[in-house]
Amino acid sequence: MNDGERDEGERYDVVIVGAGHGGAAAAAALRQRGFAGSIVLIGAEPELPYERPPLSKEYLAGERAFERMLIRPAAFWREREITLLLGQPVAVVDASARRVTLENGRVIGYHRLIWAAGGSARRLACEGHDLAGVHTVRCRADVDRMIAELPRVERVAVVGGGYVGLEAAAVLTALGRRVTVIEARDRLLARVAGATLADFYAAEHRARGVEVRLGAQVESILANDGVAAGVRLGDGERVAAEMVIVGIGLVPAVAPLLAAGADGGDGVIVDSLCRTSLPDVYAIGDAAAHRNAFAGGALVRLESVQNATDQAATVAKRLTGTDEPYAAVPWFWSNQYDLRLQTVGLSAGHDEAILRGAPTSRRFSVIYRRAGRVVALDCVNAARDFVRGKALVSAGATVDATVLADPAIPL
Ligand SMILES: Cc1cc2nc3c(=O)[nH]c(=O)nc-3n(C[C@H](O)[C@H](O)[C@H](O)COP(=O)(O)OP(=O)(O)OC[C@H]3O[C@@H](n4cnc5c(N)ncnc54)[C@H](O)[C@@H]3O)c2cc1C
Repeated sequence: MNDGERDEGERYDVVIVGAGHGGAAAAAALRQRGFAGSIVLIGAEPELPYERPPLSKEYLAGERAFERMLIRPAAFWREREITLLLGQPVAVVDASARRVTLENGRVIGYHRLIWAAGGSARRLACEGHDLAGVHTVRCRADVDRMIAELPRVERVAVVGGGYVGLEAAAVLTALGRRVTVIEARDRLLARVAGATLADFYAAEHRARGVEVRLGAQVESILANDGVAAGVRLGDGERVAAEMVIVGIGLVPAVAPLLAAGADGGDGVIVDSLCRTSLPDVYAIGDAAAHRNAFAGGALVRLESVQNATDQAATVAKRLTGTDEPYAAVPWFWSNQYDLRLQTVGLSAGHDEAILRGAPTSRRFSVIYRRAGRVVALDCVNAARDFVRGKALVSAGATVDATVLADPAIPL
């Protein structure tokens, strides 16, 4: 690690804020494309850039060592002369002076700034939300705290039936804990998937002993001696639990950029080259809201490794002289039990969902169409559908529904 001792006047050609998926990918891509200027990657967390998806999967399960989650080994950054400033959050952006100020007071000037700060896990606001034993799953420290507590935990309440919560529920069930999932909407995965997939996952979790409560509001977190003891629901019912995991979404980390005058709200708004409204300031990944052709041109903020790394590539190209608008097909995955879900495209706004294969076989896909065009697929243990479906989504293909529905006919 090269934590260069410089004066307050230090300046880099490229300052990257956020040493996660997007930030690491941007730095690596710049060097790969021959960028010879100075680069500093500034991260709030103390660790070298690491992969986040295993946090709610193999890392929580104790099946993957942290070292095996590093995006690159320490030597990679040293050899490419990418300076890492870790454990040092950026507090202020001054776009007119072209500099950032870290929480520790250090001031760093930039020629170009790439904002890749992701976000923080959304927290509950109810009574008891900050008790010991209440967790979110966003960074390594979160999961280390959970692992440390697990020996005294028999029952877990997972608030939020999205991917992160369901993955944690699957791991903890496999580890022998009794898990209750509490979801406010009337189905799981309501924000990201169609009803067929949601019903399938609810049934899979229930078959393994998970209690799935739909349409259930969290009233407060119950306490016992200052430690979480469960969740009180809106109807007065109590769900006893020694551990409460809150997986209710992400708050993009954009306050310093918005304070500096960047356009945005739920994320910083960027154009197809990932430019913000501030001069020479780019934003990528979870923190960036962009107009996406696969969402019918709507402004979206995608939370996926694909989006972070592909937007990083867009910026790296731009800073090395190639303007190539971001137009990547969105894709995502989630592992729960022995089910590997791969999603391609964006299903929001679909007018038709076609089932391909039988959910009871635990290998099937749901194909979403809008105005006759294939816009997205959710593929469960169906990697071939995913690969071929990607091409269909990319092309906006119109394919006969009977063909899509027949697993005997390759997509
Ligand atoms: C538990 C979990 C499971 C996931 N599973 C999947 C999956 O299976 N598939 C998938 O595609 N996606 C998954 N995701 C989403 C994926 O990890 C994110 O979309 C991706 O990490 C976004 O990359 P990013 O660079 O925008 O943000 P991040 O990777 O979150 O990196 C942002 C970094 O910036 C740092 N930071 C924040 N504020 C500041 C500041 N002011 N100064 C300096 N640094 C700052 C943060 O600490 C963080 O290290 C998962 C996410 C989580 C949390």
